[in-house]
Amino acid sequence: MPTTARPILIAGGGIGGLSAALGLAAKGRSVIVLEKAARLGEIGAGIQLGPNAFHAFDYLGIGEAARAMAVYIDKLLLMDALTAEEITHIDVGPAFRARFGNPYAVVHRGDLHGVLLAACRADARVDLRVACEVVGYDQDGASVTVRLASGETIAGAALIGADGLWSNVRGQMLDEGPPLVSGHTSYRSVIPTEKMAEDLRWNAATLWAGPKCHLVHYPLSGWKVFNLVVTYHNDAPAPVAGQPVEAEEVMAGFGHIHPKAQQIIIHGSDWKLWVLCDREPVADWVDGRVALLGDAAHPMLQYMAQGACMAMEDSVCLAHMVAAHGDDLEAALTAYRDRRVVRTTRVQLGSRAMGEHVYHPAGAHALARNAIMSAKSSEEWCDTLAWLYGGSGVDGDG
Ligand SMILES: Cc1cc2nc3c(=O)[nH]c(=O)nc-3n(C[C@H](O)[C@H](O)[C@H](O)COP(=O)(O)OP(=O)(O)OC[C@H]3O[C@@H](n4cnc5c(N)ncnc54)[C@H](O)[C@@H]3O)c2cc1C
Repeated sequence: MPTTARPILIAGGGIGGLSAALGLAAKGRSVIVLEKAARLGEIGAGIQLGPNAFHAFDYLGIGEAARAMAVYIDKLLLMDALTAEEITHIDVGPAFRARFGNPYAVVHRGDLHGVLLAACRADARVDLRVACEVVGYDQDGASVTVRLASGETIAGAALIGADGLWSNVRGQMLDEGPPLVSGHTSYRSVIPTEKMAEDLRWNAATLWAGPKCHLVHYPLSGWKVFNLVVTYHNDAPAPVAGQPVEAEEVMAGFGHIHPKAQQIIIHGSDWKLWVLCDREPVADWVDGRVALLGDAAHPMLQYMAQGACMAMEDSVCLAHMVAAHGDDLEAALTAYRDRRVVRTTRVQLGSRAMGEHVYHPAGAHALARNAIMSAKSSEEWCDTLAWLYGGSGVDGDG
């Protein structure tokens, strides 16, 4: 059977896996998405999307649907959490959109995942299967066979490991230990807009930076709700994902910040906590007919708000390379990796640096941050970020 007739297997039905499925299907490839969970979905929280994510949406044919669910914020605002004074901001209004050809927006993860899922369901080339945990793979130079936890095996032309931070595909491919625990704990809550402090209902993605902590809030879902994410560098020793936590415990890490910033926590409810992890960047995410994508390839802290954006960019690049290389899937996967690795490494390392030098400094370090960052105009920030927001990630732009 020619390689092009066999499906490409994708482990994971998150934002990365579904984007990859759409991109490959658009190039005429049939795909089978194998998702571990019993149903396809996303957690009920928000996500920021730079213009580069919208370039990817357009390419994947869902630009219109993605724009319809977004809240278009006016600015990215950085506040000092001790003084409650602005440090700097970036206007993301009409001039920003014109410059980068697309908006900066915030969306509900469920809405975003829903748009991707609907597009996958509408494409006969995409076969979505749930309760399918990929535990390993074998390959013989002409095909890949995945092994599922159920004992079932499924053969395909290639395998894309889009199975997230704890990727089993990566676990087999690379000789390394578990993800690195950052010691940073993020608490998330989504509250109705009327519960948000009135004087903080800004049309901005706002970040309050304080010693060993930061807080983020923005409106979502047509201003019906506010997304709250507050992070405390408490040296948490072990990874945690989505564990419910009492508001008093959340507040414990934020007693030292300005009362105005504390309101963000006071008004939150149903908090859940994550202890954040990432990995050192690596350049070898391809093994013959198997490649990694999204968090499986380059897990990062969320501090540049780019993990999902990078996963979607990966998907666009992957589709391009598979189309360009026809039947030679090994060459396609290598070309994909070569075009993505510098840009994603830059975002992985940049995200860590943001945590250290922008989000969590204290004392003189914080004073230096404020002096350096407030000296830049919004236009100068756009120049600084042009590599990221202006790039598509397809051409190896870094
Ligand atoms: C607090 C926080 C805030 C964030 N904010 C932003 C933001 O504003 N902007 C942004 O762009 N990014 C943000 N991110 C990052 C973003 O959420 C991730 O980078 C993105 O979701 C990665 O998508 P993915 O599909 O690669 O992985 P995942 O979302 O982890 O999806 C992996 C999928 O694979 C499935 N799976 C796992 N193992 C297996 C297996 N063995 N077999 C089959 N299926 C499997 C999982 O069930 C899941 O459905 C944030 C992250 C956090 C923690």
